[in-house]
Amino acid sequence: MVSKSEPLPPGVSINHELRTLNDSIHNDYALEEYFFQIVDTPHFQRLRGLKQLGITSYVFPSAAHTRFEHSLGVGHLTRTLVDRLWATQPGAFAGLDFLAVRTSLIIAGLCHDLGHGPFSHLFDGNFMLRAVDAPKGDHWTHEKGSVDMLDDLLRYLGLQEDADGLMWLKSKQNGDIPFSPGLVKAVIDSGKGLRAQADVPASLKRYASPEVRFLFQIVANDDTGIDVDRFDYFRRDTYNAGAQTAYNPMRLVNSARIVEGQIAFPEKEFPNLRLMFQTRFNLFKHVYTHRVSEAINLMVVDALLKADGALRISSMVHNPAMYVHLTDGILDQIAASAAHGWRCMCGDPEPCDKNSESEHFKSMAQARGLVERIRKRDLYQLAFEKVFYNRTLYRDLTRAAKEDGLKNQILEKDSTEKLRRDDFHVDLASIHHGDKENDPMVKVLFFSKDKPDKLLLLPRDTPLPDLDGPFIEYRLRVYARNREHTKDIHAAAKAWLKSLTPGN
Ligand SMILES: [Zn+2]
Ligand SMILES: [Zn+2]
Repeated sequence: MVSKSEPLPPGVSINHELRTLNDSIHNDYALEEYFFQIVDTPHFQRLRGLKQLGITSYVFPSAAHTRFEHSLGVGHLTRTLVDRLWATQPGAFAGLDFLAVRTSLIIAGLCHDLGHGPFSHLFDGNFMLRAVDAPKGDHWTHEKGSVDMLDDLLRYLGLQEDADGLMWLKSKQNGDIPFSPGLVKAVIDSGKGLRAQADVPASLKRYASPEVRFLFQIVANDDTGIDVDRFDYFRRDTYNAGAQTAYNPMRLVNSARIVEGQIAFPEKEFPNLRLMFQTRFNLFKHVYTHRVSEAINLMVVDALLKADGALRISSMVHNPAMYVHLTDGILDQIAASAAHGWRCMCGDPEPCDKNSESEHFKSMAQARGLVERIRKRDLYQLAFEKVFYNRTLYRDLTRAAKEDGLKNQILEKDSTEKLRRDDFHVDLASIHHGDKENDPMVKVLFFSKDKPDKLLLLPRDTPLPDLDGPFIEYRLRVYARNREHTKDIHAAAKAWLKSLTPGN
């Protein structure tokens, strides 16, 4: 596990001025000192203020780990895998500047989550979508945010691209260390942009070739859903939630091979990979979307939306100087706003924060009220839940949800005629093994002991004998914003679903 004893990759003298870190998941591991130029910046240090699982620690108290330790862990696993591939298959890197590729991949591993907002997926999925009315496909995502933050980080360090598209990290030993910022961004994006672009810049052309597709299957792999980002967080989240899994990511890191230009695994790792996808499913079902976590998530989104007019939270994503300070601490800032005073950012010449009749004064008080409710555990109540496997029903509901029609349909079944749209929240979700309704194992690339240089694919049309699905479940939840409406909402939602699926 200690990287100092790893064999030196062939043909390259890598600067081994190392810093050793201790970690609950990977024990002690080392990173070259020069990577800390990236780590010791406000952009990267901000990750200390983002809990990996958002508000999950309100339900699983020890799941309070941050994106900081996860990002370092991903950097470490990237480094371990790249060095192993280079030590065992140096020919796969023919024609590439290995040191620049290695440095770029490790930086991508470290920086892949730089753009996450407060409370992680809740921020881009739920808050930004509702706060900003952007045209379809134009929405801000944390992936876009990561690229913006990386650009700002590189500017902060005063680094500039040379004629070959490279930047250089300062190193005390062995001269400076090159990396390609273009490659870093392409790796974070799983190579999608590089493949889609017609006019790839000359300095990146060599990475668009199918022979080096493996470069985009290490940190973030959209082809198979197996990458070191997931290796780290499946293990780290399970451990910190106090759950168990037998799946072992280090066996995968230590046995992967480049076959026909892609990352593949020995066929004997089938059970281990199966366990990995099952771990994913269990994390989503039992931890990430726990019914109480979701109630708190909805309350946080409501609080952020209430505070957005005054604090301009949603516009900070476009301003790195402000975004660098936007962390989970925004909730404390809202909670403290009455006691500490606050300043309205809306630009109104008459300060809203002094005028108790102003819209923003009132909405800040409502936001504060929601944070107080979370802390007193006066939470939104799960009024109705239905788990189902009918894909057509899920599609119909999704279509109706887009037009906000679900609420209307439920209101029509309200026999009390007292319920209002704002009294409840409808949440529709699908939970799967990583590839929607399909078995994710059929996308995995394997190789056999006898023919280690030939890709081995599993049959795509017959179910695999070890598990035959279903690989996805759909879930509808209706939450009551106030306890006194729980019963009426339950009755209306139940009657509504019954009318959709007679006989159920
Ligand atoms: Zn990550
Ligand atoms: Zn204002």
